[in-house]
Amino acid sequence: MRIGILGGGQLAMMMIKMSSNKHNIDFLVVDPSEKPPASKYAECIKSEYDDIESLNLLIKNCDVITIDFENVPSHALKYLEKHISVYPNSKSVETCQDRLSEKNLFLQNNIPTTKFKSIGSEKDLEEGIKEFGGDSILKSRKLGYDGKNQIVVGNQNAKDIWKKIGGMESIIENKINFITEVSIIGVRNIAGETFFYPLVENSHKHGILNTSIAPFENHTLQKEAEVIHKKITSLMDYVGVLVIEFFIDKNNKLIANEMAPRVHNSGHWTISGSNISQFESHILAISNLPLKEIKTPKYSGMINILSKMPDINKIEKIGVSNIFNYGKSERPNRKLGHITITCSDKKLLIEKINTISKILY
Ligand code: ATP
Ligand code: MG
Repeated sequence: MRIGILGGGQLAMMMIKMSSNKHNIDFLVVDPSEKPPASKYAECIKSEYDDIESLNLLIKNCDVITIDFENVPSHALKYLEKHISVYPNSKSVETCQDRLSEKNLFLQNNIPTTKFKSIGSEKDLEEGIKEFGGDSILKSRKLGYDGKNQIVVGNQNAKDIWKKIGGMESIIENKINFITEVSIIGVRNIAGETFFYPLVENSHKHGILNTSIAPFENHTLQKEAEVIHKKITSLMDYVGVLVIEFFIDKNNKLIANEMAPRVHNSGHWTISGSNISQFESHILAISNLPLKEIKTPKYSGMINILSKMPDINKIEKIGVSNIFNYGKSERPNRKLGHITITCSDKKLLIEKINTISKILY
């Protein structure tokens, strides 16, 4: 079995690391950058994602194709799909690439989401600000990650905001005064069976994921999130790991924010905190191998390492499960690695996370 991956970042790296020896699977990666993280464990073709020669190499040499980030050009996935299985399929990826289609999918299927409006011009924005007020956010429809291409409206005028967003097609949405944020990570196989990890509680700094803690113990919300996830994956005929991010509002209700058609930063803890990691689950699902019932007997946390790598000795002394260094060069607010901790005592877990946060920030 050989799997082709479009994208060779840290998520591809971990999918390969967590499954290649265990299940005897080979990987072939396409990524435009020099020595991406995945090149540590697999052969990488250095090219654009839609380079026809590279796509033909994948078709010739692989059994199935997947992605490690959602902004792969959908025409590349559509080309591949004519010749080989692509999981998740191009339609699902396309939906998740565009905030407007994502929000419309939520709306059309009665999944609570933020109030939103499509913005295509400065005039639209002017009307949007009138309707939504300053307590709203303008977000580009495409290419947003880590809070990029998002502007809180506040008391700024439409002209300035439109200039700041570079005239990109966007949506305006109301700001949620949330209690907390959670994500549901679920995996669906080709036969349509789905398995779920427990909800993860996420906190962000400057729009970038800072920590994740699992499980978020709320039986009602867990079930509600699973129902929403199942609804979406069956609508999209989705195969693999899909993650949905939610706000929990003041009424303790889930409000869908966005989706990721791939394994997710908020699921890194599954390596030490679960009997099967999100990475292995995704690979099993797309390879049509049997999935495992997911068990999460302990508490786990994940802290992202941003901007600068810390003194590893100091972190190790605290007693952590894993420290991952993606081998990337340091840059302000760049994700360089992460730390995971798994333990039986939630209080101890939180203490350790706080101690590590003080070292990192
Ligand atoms: P990601 O890194 O998850 O891909 P992103 O850049 O795609 O992030 P969002 O997830 O929409 O964008 O926003 C990032 C964070 O900004 C959210 O997790 C949340 O903390 C905050 N945020 C976004 N939209 C809203 C909102 N409508 N109300 C309140 N906070 C918000
Ligand atoms: Mg997000």
